[in-house]
Amino acid sequence: MTSDKKLHKKLLEILACPVDKLPLKYNKKENILTCKNKHTYRVKDGIPILLPPKE
Ligand SMILES: [Zn+2]
Repeated sequence: MTSDKKLHKKLLEILACPVDKLPLKYNKKENILTCKNKHTYRVKDGIPILLPPKE
């Protein structure tokens, strides 16, 4: 089982939630990024999709 599509650690360090600028935490199991305010972003092929959630 290879996992070369994992999110790069360095990339994760510079990522912030586009809505509130909080640091994002990577959930490996679900392959999503979340911030403290429960905004959730999907990661596709190792690239985070940082689209602000629709109101
Ligand atoms: Zn957020």
